[in-house]
Amino acid sequence: MPGIAINATRLNRTLDELGKFGETPDGMNRLAFSPADIASREYTIGLMRQAGLETRIDTAGNIIGRRAGADDSLPPIALGSHTDTVPLGGKYDGALGVMGAIEVIKTLDEQGHQTRHPIEAMVFTNEEGTRFHRWLIGSRAMAGLLEPEDLTAIDAEGVTLAQRMTDIGGDLSRADEAARQPGDLAAYFELHIEQGPYLYRSGTPIGVVTGITGRAVFELEISGMSNHAGTTPMNERRDALAAAAKLVVQIQKMAAEDEICRVATTGALDIQPNAVNVIPGRATVGVEFRDLDMAALDTAERELTRLARQAEQQDGVQIAINRHRFTDSVPIAPTMQEWVAEAAQRAGFDSERVPSGAGHDAQAIAAIAPMAMLFVPSVGGISHAIEEYSTPEACANGTQTLLELLLLADQRL
Ligand SMILES: [Zn+2]
Repeated sequence: MPGIAINATRLNRTLDELGKFGETPDGMNRLAFSPADIASREYTIGLMRQAGLETRIDTAGNIIGRRAGADDSLPPIALGSHTDTVPLGGKYDGALGVMGAIEVIKTLDEQGHQTRHPIEAMVFTNEEGTRFHRWLIGSRAMAGLLEPEDLTAIDAEGVTLAQRMTDIGGDLSRADEAARQPGDLAAYFELHIEQGPYLYRSGTPIGVVTGITGRAVFELEISGMSNHAGTTPMNERRDALAAAAKLVVQIQKMAAEDEICRVATTGALDIQPNAVNVIPGRATVGVEFRDLDMAALDTAERELTRLARQAEQQDGVQIAINRHRFTDSVPIAPTMQEWVAEAAQRAGFDSERVPSGAGHDAQAIAAIAPMAMLFVPSVGGISHAIEEYSTPEACANGTQTLLELLLLADQRL
């Protein structure tokens, strides 16, 4: 049994209370910078103060609550996540990592346990990136990874990120002041729901995250020829959609059967002229591959090219492959993974290694600090939807493990 136990009832109460901000019958609507987000931030700051933390908002709008360490000259150990949601999202994504961090510190406060290192609880701004289509804004600012496009972003309502940032107490013109240097944080730990089915299926309470998968995005522009649907013989057609359809099936197979990469998705399709009596002359297909191993993404790209060339020969079309974006995978150091597994064991839980198919603030913070992530099961593997659910027990297990991880790291770092 753990020496210091978190208060599971209080943890789940704060999760429920946070879940009132932006709650709708169809899911959570707490988009970054929305009135619900701003109100939830006030609630969170209140909880931090009750836990004895000294709070501030950095120029990127991140909320930081600090607890002094026995040796305040040591760099802090940070615990955090985000509280914004996607439209009609769930109550646990991000929220668990923040409420868990505050519960850990509140518990230490009550027990009168002082760590050697200072501790900082962090709430990162606009993780989801639904607004502005620019994500991880707060954590990238902290890691010094903001891009020029972030600074000039304008949302669907025509409001600049700079203005939205002012609404939450940040200042984008001084965003560089939010940046912290390697060595400024002793470590960063993020508790999160898995958002996938593996832990739920295996019944394992704690997932030791091995890394955050890299992502490669392409757009295939398939050019055939539009022609009359009634008069053009089948063997003389250059049907862009028919070629696209075959490619979609082949791309699925790359991951599902050939295991070239972990997952392959063709999530966007646009055809022209999109009329029932005209042979489609043009098709655009959005393709995404993800894997922890960047070499697998390179192999996937080669296979995609081969399939496209094959389709050109077989279907009489031309295919341009636009390489949109490669996001590097972020592996988690084996030592950090060991610590999470050991923390789970100390808390009395089994654990297993799982990669993260979704992106997280931790991947940005990894650029400036040793980082670890732990997952708890998502019922049915569902997230970013109203059905997103992790049991009160699962949330408590994750938070208890987060506490053990903090105590263990405080000794060893
Ligand atoms: Zn999240």
